[in-house]
Amino acid sequence: MAEKVAGIGAGVSGLASIRCCLKEGLELTCFERSNDVGGLWEFSEHVEEDRASIYPSVFTNSSKEMMCFPDFSYPEDYHNFLHHGKLQENIRTFAEKKNFLRYIQFETTVLSVKKCPDFSSSGQWEVVTESKGKEQSAIFDAIMVCSGHHILPRIPLESFPGIERFKGQHFHSRQYKNPEGFEGKRILVIGIGNSASDIAVELSKKASQVFLSTRQGSWVFSRISDNGYPWDMVLHTRFRAMLQNVLPRAVQKWMLEQQMNQWFNHENYGLEPQNKSLMKESVVNDDLPSRILYGAIKVKTRVTELTETSATFEDGTVEEDIDVIVFATGYTFSFPFLEDSLVKVEDNMVSLYKYMFPPHLEKATFACIGLIQPLGSIFPTVELQARWVTRVFKDLCTLPSESAMMEDIIKRHKNRIDLFGESQSQILQTKYIDYLDELAAEIGAKPDLLSLLFKDPKLAVKLYFGPCNSYQYRLVGPGRWEGAKNAILSQKQRLLKPLKTRTLEPASNFPVSLLLKILGLLAIALAFFF
Ligand code: FAD
Ligand code: NAP
Repeated sequence: MAEKVAGIGAGVSGLASIRCCLKEGLELTCFERSNDVGGLWEFSEHVEEDRASIYPSVFTNSSKEMMCFPDFSYPEDYHNFLHHGKLQENIRTFAEKKNFLRYIQFETTVLSVKKCPDFSSSGQWEVVTESKGKEQSAIFDAIMVCSGHHILPRIPLESFPGIERFKGQHFHSRQYKNPEGFEGKRILVIGIGNSASDIAVELSKKASQVFLSTRQGSWVFSRISDNGYPWDMVLHTRFRAMLQNVLPRAVQKWMLEQQMNQWFNHENYGLEPQNKSLMKESVVNDDLPSRILYGAIKVKTRVTELTETSATFEDGTVEEDIDVIVFATGYTFSFPFLEDSLVKVEDNMVSLYKYMFPPHLEKATFACIGLIQPLGSIFPTVELQARWVTRVFKDLCTLPSESAMMEDIIKRHKNRIDLFGESQSQILQTKYIDYLDELAAEIGAKPDLLSLLFKDPKLAVKLYFGPCNSYQYRLVGPGRWEGAKNAILSQKQRLLKPLKTRTLEPASNFPVSLLLKILGLLAIALAFFF
């Protein structure tokens, strides 16, 4: 049984890991290269090598109730979608209030993690770190890798013939900070992920023209969903997840199309995805359609050739006088501190059981946390991953045999391609609620809706039709939290609180809508009988 655990990285995944280690009585040392917690949310004015980089205008695309640690929801007056600065402030407060900082060795980079010579019996690891020019080595019983996957830019220059001739400026979205300096330029943004869309929208307010080149298109939707609720609180419900699992693909495709085209017709805007039955991560952007409507952004097909100043596209059109190309082409990842035989990354792909455990280890004392891209928020996902992993380290849960794990990896890989396609941007993609439930089932934290329906029908209905977030996995099992039920029942209140900034006169109690409905029914009845 493991006792001493090394964590690598103090971002959201690292903090979730610290918390779970402490809960399970494991002694954790977390090594963090930078001087703060928060990982990619720790903003820096300048792009730093080996660290994720975000731009000043980033707002989360998950809402606050979906993106919090269960017993640490945001202050009520926090807005539903947070600016990165507010999120980072909260992450820092979380780490301070929970007394986690004492377990983190800042400005310490993990250089290597190797099996100890007696690994097959001890399951131990030798970890070499470097801090302020000094190397140190220590032995640990188990490892949690929480080092993130948005650090290394992917720039597929080979897909852009002529790029070597291009005389303008070109860079990866990771280098982008703000639109200053791009006034009056003609800019080509490549890709249609959330980075491409955010950057294209921001640049289009200063540039003379922005072109957005996409080879496959994408669904784009607003953060604002039915009745003005945050999109993820409406879409990420167990009810919808059930529909996705039982309805035939053709019906799902039709429903998705109807839903996505409610806001605007994607075909008319040139954004319609090529393969509409895939569940690829959609773009969440409130401004992209309007910038297209203004003509400030023009959507283009794939680039086939670049010259000194122009870009030719798959449909034969040419855009001249391009000054800047932004490659918003996503990220790749690697683990320079690990031996290839442990976690081999090939074409952005890794073979890990349930995205966490290498299947071939003699001892289950190693796991990756957060090496995943769920269709929903990362917070509940890494929380459940860390809860399961720490219980495996404590021998409270066991992993299946190597062959069963390999079988699961292969099956999952096939399903992923079927659901999300073969694009590299989708390699870590998973369904959201299904995956959370799968992890929760491993540790006995999956809520039993049927028995709840008899014991507490109001709560059961909320769990089934309401937003599925981290509170739901704290109702039962290890790590059960007394406040979970109340947090679920009061989330609407916290959602509405920051919107109530204008005191309104109490609305008239006269039921106008009811009266209109009755009149309508009467009119139909009259029309029917006369
Ligand atoms: P990171 O935040 O990348 O943290 C990794 C940490 O490991 C870093 O602090 C790094 O310094 C440290 N580290 C790495 N290597 C070493 C080493 N060798 N030694 C020591 N330390 C090391 N997800 C959502 O759910 N909702 C959102 O709205 C959302 N918005 C996003 C917006 C952007 C622009 C991006 C890029 C991603 C977004 N994500 C979002 C996904 C995001 O990945 C997660 O929100 C989450 O922050 C990832 O946390 P992490 O701890 O796994 O990785
Ligand atoms: P991404 O989601 O991986 O998107 C990369 C884009 O580049 C895809 O559209 C991809 O198209 C395209 N691409 C890749 N290779 C290409 C090629 N050779 N030619 C043409 N196009 C190519 O990367 P990202 O947008 O940087 O986002 C990374 C993560 O951060 C995502 O999870 C995202 O949600 C998150 N993020 C969030 C926010 C926010 O919350 N506001 C902002 C930015 C990013 P294909 O699909 O065709 O491969």
